[in-house]
Order: sequence, then C-alpha cells, then structure tokens
Amino acid sequence: MRRTPLKAMPFPMAFGFSFGADKIFAAISFRTTYTIKMLNKVISTVALSLTIAVAPNSFAKEVFNYGTFALGTLINVQTKNDTKEEADYCYKEALDEVNRLEDILSAYIDSSDVSKINKGRGTWVKINPETAQLLKLSLTMAADTAGAFDPTIGALVKDWSVDQPEHRIPKADEIHADIAKVDWKKIEVKEENGEYFAKIGDDQTITLGGIAKGYILDKVAELTTKKGCKDVLLSFGGDITGTGTNGKDKPWMIGIQYPGAKTGQYFATLPLDNESVQTSGDYERFFIQDGVKYHHIISPVTGKPVPATLSSVTIIGSTSAPADALCTALFVMGWDGAQEYLKKHPHVRAVLVNGDKKRVAATEAIKDILTVVVPTLEVQTIIPEKQETVK
Ligand code: ADP
Ligand code: MG
Repeated sequence: MRRTPLKAMPFPMAFGFSFGADKIFAAISFRTTYTIKMLNKVISTVALSLTIAVAPNSFAKEVFNYGTFALGTLINVQTKNDTKEEADYCYKEALDEVNRLEDILSAYIDSSDVSKINKGRGTWVKINPETAQLLKLSLTMAADTAGAFDPTIGALVKDWSVDQPEHRIPKADEIHADIAKVDWKKIEVKEENGEYFAKIGDDQTITLGGIAKGYILDKVAELTTKKGCKDVLLSFGGDITGTGTNGKDKPWMIGIQYPGAKTGQYFATLPLDNESVQTSGDYERFFIQDGVKYHHIISPVTGKPVPATLSSVTIIGSTSAPADALCTALFVMGWDGAQEYLKKHPHVRAVLVNGDKKRVAATEAIKDILTVVVPTLEVQTIIPEKQETVK
C-alpha cells in the first residue's frame, strides 16, 4: 500500500471540489453553474458546507459543472465539452434520465413502480422493464450476500425512517413483527408478451434504496455516452461513475471521504477509468437520540441499524448497481464479516474503514490504484483465500 502525507497528495488536478453530502468527492475542474434546485432543511445545511477551491485555469479542455437535488441527495454532473451549449445538452440528457428513473424506482413517489408493488402486495403488478431488471439484479445480490442485502427490508426501513423527519426508535414487538416479513425469496418477477410484472409476499414492503442509485448511475452513463457525451463524471450523493477523461485528458481522480472528518477530507484517492465507485457509510444518514447514533443500514436479522464495526465500505466496479448493493451488504456484515466475504471473492475491489476510523482494509485487487493519504491510518491487505484445486 502506498502512502503519502496528506499535504503532499499528488492530485493530478490543480484543485478539488467537494459536495457537502458526499461520501466520496470528486476532484474536478469547477467551471460553471452550480444550482441547488430544491433546498430542504437537510440540504441547505449541506449546501452551506460546500467547499470549493478554485485552481488556475490551465486545462486543455473545459469541464462544465452542474448540480441539483434529486434521488434524495445532491447530484453533480461534470462534462467535458467544446462549448457550453454542448455541455448544457449533456447535463439535460443526464438529468431527464435521473428524473425518469426516480419516478419509477423511488419508494417515496406514490406513482412509482415500487409504490405500486407495495400497494398491490400479494398480487401481480405491471411494472416497467427497468424495474424488472433491477428487481432481478436485487435478487441476485441478495442471494450472493446470503440476504445481508435484502430489498424486502422496506417495513423496517419505514419503522426507523432514519433519513425522514419522522425518524424514531421502533418498539421491540414492531421490530420483531417486521423482521418476519423480510424474505427476498418471496419476490417474483415475470415477463409475458413483452410486458413485465412483479409480485411480493402479502405482508411485504420493498425498498430499492440500497441499489437504485447505482442502477440509475449506470443507466445515465449509458445514455450520455450514447448521446455523444464522452467525458462525463456523475456523482449522486457521492456514488460516482466516470466515463472518458477529465480536463487534462487523464482518468477522473476521486477521493474517498474520511468518515467522521470534515466534509471533503479524503483518506485515499483513486483514478476512475470508465468505472464506478460506491460507498456505504454510517456518517451521513443518521439521527441521535439520548446520545446514541442510529444510522440507515439495517440488519435483516436484528431489525436494527448494524453495530458500528465499520464506518465505511467503498467498492470500485465496472458498473455501479451491483457494487451499490454489495457496499450495503458488506456494511451489514461488519468489519470481520466483510473481510471474510472479500477473501472468498478476490476479484472485488473494496476498501473498508473500521468503526474507530483508525484502520483500513483493502483487497489485493484495489491495492495498485489506491493511494492512502492519511499517514496515521493502519492499512492492511485482505489476502484472498486459497482456491481449492479441483482434482
Ligand atoms: P446511500 O443510499 O446513502 O448511498 P446505501 O447504498 O448503503 O446508502 O443504501 C442504504 C439504503 O438502503 C437505506 O437508506 C435503506 O433504504 C436501504 N437498506 C438499509 N438496509 C438495507 C439492507 N440490509 N438491505 C437492503 N437495503 C437496505
Ligand atoms: Mg448501496
């Protein structure tokens, strides 16, 4: 693991820009319009903590920067273009796609497929092809993580409502009753004559909150590329996908937020070569009651926010959606459980920060591109388990 002191961080870009809400922030060229479309109470706090450092204007090509509020978070689109008109076009395409998919996939929108599935629980409900695709991927991820990621956790998520104004500590019998409803195996998806349908158990509630942001990133990146927007960095509340290159024709560089530190302070950096980075953490969406912190990642087994053996999990992948679900699942597994999983899945490029934020564990697969910049951090490598040779 390479280490360099924080001050000597060899950022190839002359400056960085960080989102208040980001778990990961992008080092970017800050050029133009930053508009926050919708400022609710939480977001205005976030917006106030935006930190922007402007660098000398020495880029080969201009990177245009746009921001707004969607998917319950700040979203940021950076696009490298010859003209502002082209950049505006790329941004509009990206935003239209975000809005279209949010309308289908959000549990907070009454007319969404997710709301319809929940209201029609126990019956087949007609859905969009994207919802079918995402549900199928969710089932794969639930199976792969032995149910640590489970989209039928919706009732428990609602009980806690961690990131909603009505957040509360549910009563033990409520939690108990809602744990019994969690079972991803009861989700069914089918196609008939080119139409898609889904059905969940008659007491179940689903949420795609742990995977939808990643899926939407994938879809938006696919669309902007198709529309000729080659060099785009998308950051949805810190979940990032980069296509093409930055203003210096180099891979986009991103920094991983140091959990618990000031927003924008990163503990590690990595280049993004047409890839995605997702992070799950306990330091953004939480509430504190009687001195105890309750965050938004819930154990399907206990029905409560998972104990703080980890403070963040970051995964880099060729696509976002599976990495998004896996981050959430590894967070549920905890510091030891996540490492056990990663030893058995050596291709996964992951970085874990432990609960007291003093230790970092990174998989061998990510070691070569990751630069840890906080010298006090104890860094260990997750060594893959030896594969048994089949005779
Ligand atoms: P963020 O949305 O902040 O990027 P995550 O990707 O980790 O964070 O997703 C957390 C969201 O996933 C929660 O807000 C909740 O909606 C949902 N969720 C919480 N626990 C689980 C779980 N065990 N399995 C699946 N989804 C979960
Ligand atoms: Mg996730």
